[in-house]
Amino acid sequence: MDRKKMVYKFGGGSAEGDRAMKQLLGGKGANLAEMSSIGLPIPPGFTISTEVCQYYSKHKGDWPEGLEEQVQEAIHHIEDLMDLEFGDSSNPLLVSVRSGAAQSMPGMMDTVLNLGLNDKSVQGLAAKTDNERFAFDCYRRFIDMFGGVVMQVPHEEFEEAIQGLKDEKSVELDTELGVEDMKELVDRYKAVYRKSTGHMFPQNPSEQLHYAINAVFGSWDSNRAIKYRRINKITGLLGTAVNVQAMVYGNMGDDCATGVCFTRNPSDGTNELYGEFLINAQGEDVVAGIRTPRNINELKEVMSDTYHELREITHKLERHYQDMQDIEFTIQQGKLFILQTRNGKRTGKAAVKIAIDMVDEVILKKDKAVENLVQPNHLDQLLHPQLDESSVKEEEILGKGLPASPGAAVGKVVFDSETAEEMKAEGESVILVRIETSPEDVGGMSASEGILTSRGGMTSHAAVVARGWGKPCVAGCGDIIINYENQIFTNGKVTVHAGDWISIDGAQGMVINGKKEVEPPKFDDNYHTFMKWVDTFRDMDVRTNADTPEDAAKAREYGAQGIGLARTEHMFFGDERIKAMRRMIISESEEERRSALEALLPYQKQDFIEIFEAMEGLPVTVRLLDPPLHEFLPDEDEEIAALAEDLGIKEADLKRKIRLLSEFNPMLGHRGCRLGITYPEITEMQARAILEAAVEIKKQGKEVQPEIMIPLVGTSEEFIHERHVIDEIAEKVFEEAEETVEFKVGTMIEIPRAAIVADKIASEAEFFSFGTNDLTQMTFGYSRDDAGKFLELYLNEGILKHDPFQVLDEEGVGSLVRMAVEKGHSVKPDLKMGICGEHGGDPSSVAFCYSLGLNYVSCSPYRVPVARLAAAQARLRSESTASSTRGEDKKSGELVS
Ligand code: PEP
Ligand code: MG
Repeated sequence: MDRKKMVYKFGGGSAEGDRAMKQLLGGKGANLAEMSSIGLPIPPGFTISTEVCQYYSKHKGDWPEGLEEQVQEAIHHIEDLMDLEFGDSSNPLLVSVRSGAAQSMPGMMDTVLNLGLNDKSVQGLAAKTDNERFAFDCYRRFIDMFGGVVMQVPHEEFEEAIQGLKDEKSVELDTELGVEDMKELVDRYKAVYRKSTGHMFPQNPSEQLHYAINAVFGSWDSNRAIKYRRINKITGLLGTAVNVQAMVYGNMGDDCATGVCFTRNPSDGTNELYGEFLINAQGEDVVAGIRTPRNINELKEVMSDTYHELREITHKLERHYQDMQDIEFTIQQGKLFILQTRNGKRTGKAAVKIAIDMVDEVILKKDKAVENLVQPNHLDQLLHPQLDESSVKEEEILGKGLPASPGAAVGKVVFDSETAEEMKAEGESVILVRIETSPEDVGGMSASEGILTSRGGMTSHAAVVARGWGKPCVAGCGDIIINYENQIFTNGKVTVHAGDWISIDGAQGMVINGKKEVEPPKFDDNYHTFMKWVDTFRDMDVRTNADTPEDAAKAREYGAQGIGLARTEHMFFGDERIKAMRRMIISESEEERRSALEALLPYQKQDFIEIFEAMEGLPVTVRLLDPPLHEFLPDEDEEIAALAEDLGIKEADLKRKIRLLSEFNPMLGHRGCRLGITYPEITEMQARAILEAAVEIKKQGKEVQPEIMIPLVGTSEEFIHERHVIDEIAEKVFEEAEETVEFKVGTMIEIPRAAIVADKIASEAEFFSFGTNDLTQMTFGYSRDDAGKFLELYLNEGILKHDPFQVLDEEGVGSLVRMAVEKGHSVKPDLKMGICGEHGGDPSSVAFCYSLGLNYVSCSPYRVPVARLAAAQARLRSESTASSTRGEDKKSGELVS
């Protein structure tokens, strides 16, 4: 183990890693290595691998043997390249220490800057830069950051110290403090540190580095990082890497600057340099939103050569990474340094435009654009509702801020994350209103419909996180003043209280008083072009779950290739229908039941005609009645009395009947095919309605492909029984109509037993549709209706990685699906199979279905575009993996023993 490589050096035009080593070096580390090898001007440094973080977590903060030596050696490497010395009194090397996992977790983990400063080296820095004020400013910033990150000294205590000095000096801004003030601040900060930690501020740079590395590793397991990973479904990572890199300074004078930029506009995708910079400032000044940064285009005017060099680098990076980049840079005394680059987060609209443009600009091919440049959640965003602008009156506008993340959101004002989470849990819609957000707020941000901040830029925490999640956000709305104590915000004219309704438009940066109407999204040409590309790379069908002609038409507009599940029970509601349905349910004899069903037949038939028309030419799977019958009966006394009168029976008799129908465990009771088997006349009526409708459509010269699906089958005998009833009806219907229609009869696989005996069922059935809602319920033994009581805790405790009702549990439920697919295909190699549980619209579950060779996934209409993209990406990714090993990590075995 002591010979094992744990530290990877970069800088000076070469590196010991590359971008394929993301799992091991983290995204940032892998990118730094890659940037160094392609010759970009980056400050030299080294990366400690994620395996070490895993070791650190597992061994309660111990370092693996040999790490200390490798870190020392890597420090010498930086010293050589920068011609500086760690801790030196005349030529000191200062470093930054940053986290960086394989997946981006913005602001979740810790960073320490200016490490290496002490009472001696601060003099060296002052002499070297001929700027004593700057050196002591760095020193006091370092004590603050090190104290906070490494020793948990509250930041406010340092803030109080600086505010105290400013008050004594009667100045307002930090910049008004002189050299002596900075020296005084260093002393006061050291005192704060000593008081809070009980010991002196460490002077040995190697010791400082050791502690800082520990702090970064430790922050991987912080509550906020764990929460962020859970919300963003980030799993399977070893830990964070630690990147130690030579410091360069953007605050050494007016020929210095620091900034962040995107190579394209992340809000709408326009091909322009987009970002912000500050002259004479440190990086965190830009991101923290404390000083208002300048538009990146103004850099052209103040540092023209550097601007052009930066532009050249952005082009080079885009071509190299084949993606839009998010770059941090620093200009130190006229020299440009790139600090980091990563694929930039963007809105759905921008993602689609960038994909189209980059293909046009021959940066990459269509297949790669579809595979990598647009994520399923981007399309989800495009499906977000928009504000109906014409409904907004001028006087209702409370203020304008930055259009940080598009989409309209409407909700009640809350001023803190905890309340947001609580109100969300109670089913309320909320808008989180904060002066600015911090990583502590992610829970509340996630619970909110939208986010409004009064401070911060387009790259502020609120803006970056909201864009990533596709949540509407208006940032930096300086028109409003927020008062947390009184739980209000005001624009000077109107005061809005906690609990009042507001609306925000994240595309316009608009904040509106009251609850506004929102309208469905409009798709632009880029969207349609992109979706056409998606479909050329997709070989798994996407159908929809739709019970009404309107939903069917909407889903078809979104690209659905048929209906995978039409639940017929919803069709029995509505005045006349429910009456007939109830009459059928409480019938004492088959005759009575048949007469009630006869009344229902024309309704059902008309429904099917309309659905078949909406889906003309495409398959439509209609599921026979599934829920327990008592769900259709009233439970309130008044309603029962009214129904009894309606039906001409005694109230007491009706109550008795309802009591008889009620079940202890309805989900496992008299439902699904059990209804059709006990009352075959129900199956007969439904089969007749479906087939008569189909015949009628055919007679109109239209193509119809009915598929009748039997729910909740657990034995092949159940299936055979139901199929027999359907076939007999089909014969009658076709004879009466003197016309036939081709139809299929298949089943849902949603009971574990059905998966186990899938080969037997397959010899009878013509298709399988995996009902993964029930299959999950019955495999886990978690009631679909009651699991909410403990699922949250299970997720928080890590007992479950995902809610299994949203993301298919591949290990358990997925194994049953796989078994059923294999057994089904062993009997009928061409047996058509799909999925119609909620998982059909979840991208990772879609990828799993693709890997099993399912013919289609079926999901709600609004998820159809998402599922189309997920299906195309599943295919492209499986082909990429098969044809190349480029994406695989060059890992050299686990460090954790
Ligand atoms: C299922 O169980 O997955 C399914 C689609 O049916 P339902 O949700 O109606 O039970
Ligand atoms: Mg079901």
